[in-house]
Parts: sequence; structure tokens; C-alpha cells
Amino acid sequence: MSGKLYLCATPIGNLEDITLRVINTLREVDLIAAEDTRYSRKLLNHYEIKTPMTSYHEHNKVDKAKNLVEQLLAGKHIALITDAGTPAISDPGEELVKQAYDAGIEVTSLPGPCALITGLTLSGLSTGRFSFEAFLPSDKKERARILSELTNDTRTLILYEAPHRLKKTLRELYETLGNRTITIVRELTKIHETICRTSLIEAISSYESTEPKGEFVLIIEGKSVNELEKERQSIWEEKSITEHMKIYTDQGLEKKEAMKSVAKDRGISKREVYQALLDLKED
Ligand code: SAM
Repeated sequence: MSGKLYLCATPIGNLEDITLRVINTLREVDLIAAEDTRYSRKLLNHYEIKTPMTSYHEHNKVDKAKNLVEQLLAGKHIALITDAGTPAISDPGEELVKQAYDAGIEVTSLPGPCALITGLTLSGLSTGRFSFEAFLPSDKKERARILSELTNDTRTLILYEAPHRLKKTLRELYETLGNRTITIVRELTKIHETICRTSLIEAISSYESTEPKGEFVLIIEGKSVNELEKERQSIWEEKSITEHMKIYTDQGLEKKEAMKSVAKDRGISKREVYQALLDLKED
């Protein structure tokens, strides 16, 4: 019988943020695959876990996943841990999970700390709808493409960022999204945890004289729905009602349906569209 793959969430700073189930599982499995075995040794020593470890990281993820899947198929139970938090979130875990499914291996996830969720809960921003973009790519074009895609997104945006790129990212966020509210959470669950709820402009100026240090999650307010609606309406208002109607009738819409769409686009009633068309006719 095949073994099982256990995705085990580990602390993102505070060693006590680990579930009893994760500790027990790490003790019971045959092997622990860890991103950095030297780093994870501290955690295992703290909880007196003696299970053998093997390294599974970004640079060996494809071949090592194959090897781990072979061991799973041979009946070994394997736990996957990452340097911090939930495996497969912004780390190589995703590759192993995919290969395990392809091989018909059973996979389960033992929930626990995750920096993006911890940051979101502390943001004071809307948590109902959010998008997680992990780290923005370093490639300039790709970065610009993603940022422009996010400009009109009304969902709260969550990003991970390294300290040496924080200032640049804050500037680019301001240039593309405008002056939104941002909550910058730093060193979550650690002694120097800081939460700063501010605006993008103020965040930029506060880092002018200090060098960012530590681990960061950025949580940025989504585009205001009202602002988006106003912008959409102002695009239509540049057109006359007749031109606007023509766009829909050219698409094959009946006059009544076209009037309904025009009214919706301009944020006015169908009656107002009708009246405007009548006035034009009379003129
Ligand atoms: N798998 C992890 C998780 O579940 O959150 C994320 C791994 S990703 C390689 C590392 C990034 O997560 C850091 O650069 C930082 O943006 C964020 N992060 C991890 N721990 C953090 C902490 N204690 N405080 C703030 N951000 C943290």
C-alpha cells in the first residue's frame, strides 16, 4: 500500500504556533521533507522530534519530488514542511503535491500558520474578497503587467515582499494604484512584530530615512467600487447618447435592450435615456 503525504504547517516566527496534530505527525511519519534541513532542525529539536529529514527545495523540486513520490509509492509516509508557515504557499511544495496526485498518492493538509492570512486578519481592510499575488515578479515587464491588471481590482490585495525590494514596490504600487490605504505587517508572531496601517504616500515617506528589515506582508485596499463606477460612467459620458445607443444596436440589440444597457452604463434611468433621445429627435 502507498504511503500518505502530509502537508504540515509550521510556525512563521513563534515556535509555539504549531498544532499538536502537526507535532504528532512529524514524530510518526517515516520521513520529513524540509526546505532547509538546518533551519528546520531547530524546530524539530525544540519538540524532540527525531524523524529523519531530507531536503526539498526550489532548486531540486522536480527531481526530488519524483524521488519522494517513489518512496510514497513504496509505502513510506512523508511530511512536507517549509521554512515557515503553510507548505505550497509561495514555496516549492506545489510541485510535490501535483506529482503526488498524478501518482495517485493520498495527500492531506494539517492547517496552521500562514503569513498572508495572519496579515489579512490584522489589516483592518475588507477580508471578504481578496487576492493574493505572492511576490511580484522581478522581471520589469511582467511586474508592470500584473500591476496594471490589479489597478481596477476591488478586492483587497495581499503581497509578500523582501526587505530590499520594499521601497521600490511601495513606489510602484503608489504609481499604479494611487494613494490607497495599506497595512504593512512585519515580523509577525515575533518579538518585533509591527503593524502599520497607513497610506501608500506615508509608507513611502516613512521608509525614506530607514532601511526596511525583517519579513513583510503588504495588505492594500482594493479599488473603491464607487470610484470604479464613476470612472466607467465618465468614459461613456464622453459619447453622445446617440453614439452610445449605436454601439449596442450595431451589436444586434433591440432598441429597448440597447436603452437598458445605455442607462446602466451611464448610471441613469431608462426613462432619462428615452427622454434624451426624444429631445434629440425634436431638435
Ligand atoms: N509558506 C509561507 C506562508 O505560509 O506564509 C510563506 C513562504 S514565503 C517563501 C516567505 C514570505 O512570507 C516572506 O518573505 C514574507 O513576505 C512572508 N512571511 C513569512 N513569515 C513572516 C512573518 N513572520 N512576518 C511577516 N511576513 C512573513
